[in-house]
Amino acid sequence: MEEVFGTERLNELLPRIKHFVKTELLPLEKEYLHRPFAETAKVLEKKRELVKAAGLWGLHLPKNEGGLGLSLCEFGQVSEALAAVPFYGHYTFNCQAPDIGNMELLSRFATDSIKKQFLHPLLEGKTRSCFAMTEPEYAGSNPVKLGTAAVRDGNDFVINGHKWFTSGAEGAAFAIVMAVTNPEGLPHKRASMIVVPTNNPGFKIERNVPVFGEQGSGWASHAEVRFTDCRVPVENLIGEAGSGFKLAQERLGPGRIHHCMRWVGIAERAFDMMCAYAATREIEEGIALGEKQFIQGFISESRVEIDASRLLVLRTAYNIDKHGAANVRDQISAIKFYVANVMLKVLDRAIQVHGALGVSDDTILSALYRHERGARIWDGADEVHKQNLALSILKNYGLDVKAKRK
Ligand SMILES: Cc1cc2nc3c(=O)[nH]c(=O)nc-3n(C[C@H](O)[C@H](O)[C@H](O)COP(=O)(O)OP(=O)(O)OC[C@H]3O[C@@H](n4cnc5c(N)ncnc54)[C@H](O)[C@@H]3O)c2cc1C
Repeated sequence: MEEVFGTERLNELLPRIKHFVKTELLPLEKEYLHRPFAETAKVLEKKRELVKAAGLWGLHLPKNEGGLGLSLCEFGQVSEALAAVPFYGHYTFNCQAPDIGNMELLSRFATDSIKKQFLHPLLEGKTRSCFAMTEPEYAGSNPVKLGTAAVRDGNDFVINGHKWFTSGAEGAAFAIVMAVTNPEGLPHKRASMIVVPTNNPGFKIERNVPVFGEQGSGWASHAEVRFTDCRVPVENLIGEAGSGFKLAQERLGPGRIHHCMRWVGIAERAFDMMCAYAATREIEEGIALGEKQFIQGFISESRVEIDASRLLVLRTAYNIDKHGAANVRDQISAIKFYVANVMLKVLDRAIQVHGALGVSDDTILSALYRHERGARIWDGADEVHKQNLALSILKNYGLDVKAKRK
C-alpha cells in the first residue's frame, strides 16, 4: 500500500500516529468506554496537549491554517489509523465529524471576520461546532424542501425552524444552519448556510434524541433543535445567498472520504477482535472456533472486503485531489454505500463469533454497532447513492432519466 498511496511525509507520520494511538488512547477504553462524556473529555484534553506538543495537531488543515497540508489521500490513511480507537482518535487529533467538515467549509468559503470569530477557536480545539440541515418534517434525502426560513430584517437574518439529528450540538459553540433565504429561487438555489452561535436566545436544544437506547451527550449526541426568532447579522452568511446546496456538496465530498476511511479502521478493529477470538475460543475439546469452516468464511470474506474498501476509498481520494470532488461524484457515491455496508457486515460477523459476549457491553463491538448503524443513512442513504450511481451509468447508455422527467 505504501508504494502506491504512500508519500515520504506520510511514511514518517503514520508510525508516530499509530504509536500514539496504541500507547496513549487505546488503554483509556477499558476505563472510559461507558463513562459520561464530561469525564472522558477531561482526560482527552490532556491527550490533545500531547498531540500539539508532538507537532501532530491539525493534520488535515491547509498550511495557511496552520496545518501540514496533507492531501485527502494522505489524510485518509491517517483517519484509518485514528479509527483504531473509534471513540477517541479523531477527537484527540481535532478532526472529528462534524467539526472537520465545518472547518473545511469555513476555511474555504467564510469571510475573514467569520473565520476569526468561529473558525480559529475551532482549529485551536477551544470550541466544537455542529451542522443543522435535517428536519423531522421533511425528507432529509431530498433536502430541497426545508421548513426553516431565514428572513432578512435590516442587517439581520431572523431564523425560524425545527431541526433534528444535529450531531454534537450539546456543548457546541456554533451551528452551521441550512435555511431558506430565497424562497422564489429554483429548488436548489433557495437555501443558504448561516452561522448561528448557540448562546443566541433564539437557539434552543429541545432534547438529545435517544439512539438504540443511548441518550448521548456532548459530541456523541444528536439534538433536536428549535430556532425561534433567532436573530443573527447578515455577515454570518457563508458564501452567497442561495448557495447552500452547492456548499453542502463541497462539504460532503471530502467528508464522505473521512467517514469511509474511519469505517475501514473500525472494520479492521472488529476484524482483529474476530480473528483473535476465533483463534483462542475452544468450541469443542481441543478444537478452536477458527477451525470451523463457517468462521473461516467470515474471516476470509471480511479480509477481502476490507482490503477492497480501502483501495476504493484511496482511489477516490486520489481522484478528488487530482480532479476535484465534483468530477468524481460516482466514485464518492460508490464508496459511501459500499464501505458502510462492509463495516457493518464485519461488525456483525465479529459480534456473531463472540456469541453472547458480542452483544454484551463488555467489548467495544456492541457500542460500535449502535453508533455506526446510522452510517447507511447519514450523508445520503444507501438507496440514494445507488440510485445516483446507476442513473449516471445509464446515461452513458442513452437513458437520461433526469432529463426525461424535466
Ligand atoms: C446518527 C446520525 C447522525 C446524523 N447527523 C446529522 C447532522 O449532524 N446534521 C444533519 O443535518 N443531519 C444529520 N443526520 C441526518 C441524516 O443526514 C438524514 O437522516 C438522512 O439525510 C436521511 O434523511 P431522513 O432521515 O429524513 O430520511 P428520508 O429522507 O425520509 O428517507 C427514509 C429512507 O427512505 C429511503 N429512500 C430515500 N430516498 C430514496 C430513494 N430515492 N429511493 C429509494 N429509497 C429511498 C432510504 O432507505 C432512507 O433511509 C444524521 C442521521 C443519523 C442517523
